[in-house]
Amino acid sequence: MSPLIVLTLLTLASADYWSERAKLVNSDSSHAIGSSIVLTEKEQQVNKVLMSHKLKEYDDGFTDPHSFLPSIHFFKSKSGIEASPVFDFIRKLPKGASLHSHDTALVSFDYLYNLTYRENLYGCVVKNRLQLHFFDKKTSGECEWELVEDLRSQNSSFDMFLKSQLSIIVDDPTTEYPSITEVWNRFMDTFGTVFGLVTHRPVFQDYFYQSLKELREDNVMYLEFRGLLPQVYELNGTTYDHMGVTKLYIETLEQFKRDYPDFHGARFIFAPSRNVDNRTVEDYVSITKELKQSFPEFIAGFDLVGQEDRGKPLIDFIPQLLELAETDTKFFFHAAETDWCGTSTDMNLFDAILLNTTRIGHGFGIVKHPKILEEVKKRKIALEISPISNQVLKLVDDLRNHPGAFLVNSGFPVVITCDDPSFWGAKALSYDWYLAFMGFASREGDLRMLKQLALNSLHFSVMREEEKCDALATWEEQWEEFLDIVLAGNTISVNQIL
Ligand SMILES: [Zn+2]
Repeated sequence: MSPLIVLTLLTLASADYWSERAKLVNSDSSHAIGSSIVLTEKEQQVNKVLMSHKLKEYDDGFTDPHSFLPSIHFFKSKSGIEASPVFDFIRKLPKGASLHSHDTALVSFDYLYNLTYRENLYGCVVKNRLQLHFFDKKTSGECEWELVEDLRSQNSSFDMFLKSQLSIIVDDPTTEYPSITEVWNRFMDTFGTVFGLVTHRPVFQDYFYQSLKELREDNVMYLEFRGLLPQVYELNGTTYDHMGVTKLYIETLEQFKRDYPDFHGARFIFAPSRNVDNRTVEDYVSITKELKQSFPEFIAGFDLVGQEDRGKPLIDFIPQLLELAETDTKFFFHAAETDWCGTSTDMNLFDAILLNTTRIGHGFGIVKHPKILEEVKKRKIALEISPISNQVLKLVDDLRNHPGAFLVNSGFPVVITCDDPSFWGAKALSYDWYLAFMGFASREGDLRMLKQLALNSLHFSVMREEEKCDALATWEEQWEEFLDIVLAGNTISVNQIL
């Protein structure tokens, strides 16, 4: 064979190789969330702005892996995230709905802390854990209650102690929380401290109002949240039961919608503790039926909460849950919030699917179950993924290794959620969105992914169809405004990026 023929064959083979390679890469990325979206001309311009920031940050991280924020513990990465232009972009972006968070860990830490300056708040320490409660006068009993105002003025270190009791934030999470057990103990204790503070009726309503406000300020237009319906109290001793508390939520929501008519509302998922006996779950069933009957618009459905690895699995309550299913109650089960495989926590996924769950909270272990993955995709069961929660509660250290990376890049029905932002110093949704965008998506993942995540959040909500159409129409308007804002405020000339 002449050298010329060999060269020609090599060139052809080489050309084939590169075209095959391009095909393979395209085929792979065509599965990712948002890959079917075709960006308009304006969106393409905005995408260039976004990607100029993202690629800089991403490639800097590739050069110096210690600086890549999704690989760092959130307590250490938070200030870096706040300085990121990508985070700034995401904060401004209309994100649609927030679909997984909990009643007493919704609001920002700063707001929670400021509540401790309210009048008539008393504190008392039991086994190194602060309890808080409002009383109209000094009360004694099992606990030596002192006015928080006095504790503050008498002891200069009290405030530091108080702050440490309202969140799980620590300087050195690796040492303080060597395993999931230590962090979950602290997490549950924090709920205990916050409880008496936020269940005082005026605080309870202000807290919920502020939660909605912070979501709206973060460009979120609708909320579905989980809650225990704790007993709420007045200073005069009056208390509110589950029905009264639900009315307080609805009253506050209506007020908020009057003040901010562009907010599209909120729904509630009754989510009491899973660490109970069957008799108690029977009570849950009765309460859910009563709530649904009385507040059909506001009540979205049912879930069980608490550390799955320690609480009871769904399989323990099948007769009760089947009874509830017969009343057309929607389920939003936490399932497989665990690193284990094949344990009862992980197997919650199977019962959640069999019980026809509408969405799955976390589903962290799902990638170990091919059949469950198939069912979730086929039945369009959204997975509520909370990156920061999973990191700080010790399921994964480096968010690039979070199963969300596989789910996002394979186009599973995913929504990004915030779980308990109050307790780790986050606020609303943007921090989790940032970490999903930088940590889960490919380097090439772009505006299409963010747009799809926003659309997913509305699509996988349980708004009625006409409400959804209405919310989508509002979202489209917000999206157009957002595109204009980015283009108007962009300091980098689009031509420079081209
Ligand atoms: Zn949760």
